[in-house]
Amino acid sequence: MYINATLLNLFAVCPRECWLHSNGINMEHTSDLVYDGKLIHETSYPQRAERYEEILISAQYEDDTLIGQIDFFDKRNKIVHEIKRSDKVEEAHIRQVKFYLWLLELNGISGVSGLLEYPKLRKTEEVSLNDSDREKLVESVLEIKETIMSDICPPVINAKICKSCSYFDFCYSSEP
Ligand code: SF4
Repeated sequence: MYINATLLNLFAVCPRECWLHSNGINMEHTSDLVYDGKLIHETSYPQRAERYEEILISAQYEDDTLIGQIDFFDKRNKIVHEIKRSDKVEEAHIRQVKFYLWLLELNGISGVSGLLEYPKLRKTEEVSLNDSDREKLVESVLEIKETIMSDICPPVINAKICKSCSYFDFCYSSEP
């Protein structure tokens, strides 16, 4: 089974969303947020490509393959850079970078730190990985695996976030 940072974040927000996404039911391509995110990624630091590398990294964890696509990896200073369009620092962004740091560690590359960059906020946030983070990542991988292997789609969560979720109509259209 393949597990990536997208599944990790979806699962943290809503196991149902994670299940729908992993079962090929996708609606995100219609989202302006996704388009904006791509645009900000491409236009904020055009000179980056010359200095840093975008890398696709994978690691085996038990029977599963963990995959991450790192925006920019500064090999010399051992820093993972991740750019976000958001106008606020979110736990999901930090989790994503921790996942990348963990993947690098599983590949024998240690001592790497992360830097989240928010062009809209003109702000950066440093990210590091500790033992508790590693334990949480292992737990999450196991829980995600169990969820997406199930034939049963998890229930709706009836949360505030549902209103801005691309699956909102799908999840609630049959409700009165
Ligand atoms: S609408 Fe709500 S319940 Fe449905 S997938 Fe999105 S967050 Fe989960």
